[in-house]
Amino acid sequence: MSFTELGLRAEILRAIAEEGYTEPTPIQAKAIPVVLAGRDLMAAAQTGTGKTAGFTLPILQLLSTKPAAARGKPRVLVLTPTRELAAQVEESVRTYGHFLPLKTALVFGGVGIGPQIKALKGGVDILVATPGRLLDHVGQRTVDLSGIEILVLDEADRMLDMGFIHDIKKVLALVPKQKQTLLFSATFSDEIRGLANGLLRDPQLVEVAPRNATADLVSQRVYPVDKAKKRELLIKLIDDHHWHQVLVFTRTKHGANTLAEKLNKADISAAAIHGNKSQGARTRALADFKSMKLNVLVATDIAARGLDIDQLPHVVNFELPNVPEDYVHRIGRTGRAGASGHAVSLVCVDEHGLLRDIERLLKKPIEKIVLPGFEPDPSIRAEPIENGKRGQGRQQQRSGGNRPGQPSKGAPQRSGKPPQRGGPARGNAAQHHSGSRGR
Ligand code: AMP
Repeated sequence: MSFTELGLRAEILRAIAEEGYTEPTPIQAKAIPVVLAGRDLMAAAQTGTGKTAGFTLPILQLLSTKPAAARGKPRVLVLTPTRELAAQVEESVRTYGHFLPLKTALVFGGVGIGPQIKALKGGVDILVATPGRLLDHVGQRTVDLSGIEILVLDEADRMLDMGFIHDIKKVLALVPKQKQTLLFSATFSDEIRGLANGLLRDPQLVEVAPRNATADLVSQRVYPVDKAKKRELLIKLIDDHHWHQVLVFTRTKHGANTLAEKLNKADISAAAIHGNKSQGARTRALADFKSMKLNVLVATDIAARGLDIDQLPHVVNFELPNVPEDYVHRIGRTGRAGASGHAVSLVCVDEHGLLRDIERLLKKPIEKIVLPGFEPDPSIRAEPIENGKRGQGRQQQRSGGNRPGQPSKGAPQRSGKPPQRGGPARGNAAQHHSGSRGR
């Protein structure tokens, strides 16, 4: 299957060729014909699969072939959960639409509204927005959504996780009923299906295997270590292996800030990226990280979601995520586009329940390596995870504990075995909220 066979017009093929793409990715091969046929689409695809081009290319084609139903109003609305993703999507639209006379605008919070109002006034065909700021514009009557012909919900699962459901419903009430709707989500949860049921008409379902969960390209390792020694171990790993571009995940914004500070003190250039940072700081950090001026980007899940960083060699879970699926999203940042990658998790006794859930999801154990000098202290007992949403640490303790075998000092220990079972079955469905709203 080639892009030409998909029936895309010359201007779009030229832009794709300039990007160096030779053939469509699986999601593109499946989604493009559906969108071109004018059908609603429900697609399970994550960042890194090429999903953005999967909806952008056919949208560009449809817009440039069909005259606008209403003059002077946006024809396409792409909603995204985060500012970074919105910026990346809009950049893709510009890139792929470079040889077409279509106008785009980007609307997200955290920056002045004035320039956005000016851009909207100038006339826009494709509007990429985060929900909160879009509704601010609606409130100020600086945007009119009554001419929307195609609506895209990008990373819909994450928008729901971030509490955008009410904002999304408000937006849905403002766009015409008669339209084409494309919904992209990493997973098809019940909540997503619920949203889709009320929104999509006879949708075509498209699913591509996550690039990451089973990707042999990503080598995964767990370093069992005490919580108090995680920072020291991270610094050692970065130094010993000369890692230059490392994305490190923490569970909290505060944790991200503190870790970035400590790394800088250890002469490892690092910045934190999360919802409390100004847009300028986030953009700068991402640019510096991409250009390797920064060695380490410390991020929370929400902030990292959708970051388009190609072929990231190393991902570190400084703390395991509460939701096992987020582990898969995190390690999906590495090993992209055929490159091999490494995902490393520093796991303390409190996190054994989380690790067990992750291994259950992956359907395989992750290799454990205990580094000399970082052996977990067997006398340290599990504490419930910080945010109190999961209490398995305590339960583990009661049920006999789940500490790793105590390794003898000396050579690193490798074991392909999952941690001992003994804790409870899967913990409570973890909630996953963040204050990082795209407003
Ligand atoms: P996305 O999943 O949309 O975030 O895209 C991930 C990355 O894949 C981006 O850097 C795109 O530029 C790149 N990409 C998208 N489509 C293709 C393709 N057909 N061939 C090669 N790279 C692609």
